[in-house]
Amino acid sequence: MSYRIKEIYFTQQGEGSNTGRDFVFVRFSGCNLWSGKEKNRKSAICQFCDTDFYGTDGINGGVYSANQLIEKIKSLWVSRDDNIAVVLTGGEPLLQVNDELVAALKQEQIYIAVETNGTLDAPDHIDWICMSPKANTEIKLKKGNEIKVIFPQESLDPEKFLLFDYSEFYLQPMDSNKYQENLNATITYCQKNPKWKLSLQTHKILGIR
Ligand code: SF4
Repeated sequence: MSYRIKEIYFTQQGEGSNTGRDFVFVRFSGCNLWSGKEKNRKSAICQFCDTDFYGTDGINGGVYSANQLIEKIKSLWVSRDDNIAVVLTGGEPLLQVNDELVAALKQEQIYIAVETNGTLDAPDHIDWICMSPKANTEIKLKKGNEIKVIFPQESLDPEKFLLFDYSEFYLQPMDSNKYQENLNATITYCQKNPKWKLSLQTHKILGIR
C-alpha cells in the first residue's frame, strides 16, 4: 500500500496534552468531512478547518510506501531524545493509516500519536489517540486518550463526550475572525466545567509550525 502525504516536518506539538513534546508530523492528504477546496467549504460537514491538507505538494510531501515513510521520519528526527515519535495527522489520517503502517512503525519502536475526527475506526497499537469531534458527525472512536473539542460549535455539546472512554478533555477556542469571543467563551466554559482544560494553539502564538 502507498500513502498520500501532504507534508512531513519536525516540530514540537503545539496543542493539548502533548504540548511541547518533539514529534515528526506526518500530514496525510484528504479528509472525509471536507474536500480541502475553498469552493466547497460552505457545503462541507466541517467548515472551520484551518489546515491545508489538499494534495501532496507540501514540504516532503508525496506518495510513500511504509518503509519510505519510516526512512523519511528517521531522517527528520533531530531531537536529543532517542525515542522517535510521530503525529499522524491530516486531513483525516485514518482514511489511510492501516495495520501495515502501524506494524512497520512499531517494528522501529516509533511512538505513534494520531489526531483524528473520530468518524473512522483506528488500527490497534496506536500509543496516543487525540480525537477532535465535529458537529453533525457520528463518532465511532469512543475509546482513546485525549478529546479536544474546538469550541464553540453549533449543535455540539462537549458534555456528551465525558461519557466516552478517554482520560484527558480539552477545549480549544476556534480560530476564526471571532477568536477573542471564542477564547472568552472557552475560558468561561472551562471555569464552569473543571473536567475540561484549556488548550491553546501555542505554535501559532509563538509563530512556529
Ligand atoms: S475534520 Fe479536521 S481535517 Fe477535516 S476538515 Fe475538519 S478540521 Fe479539517
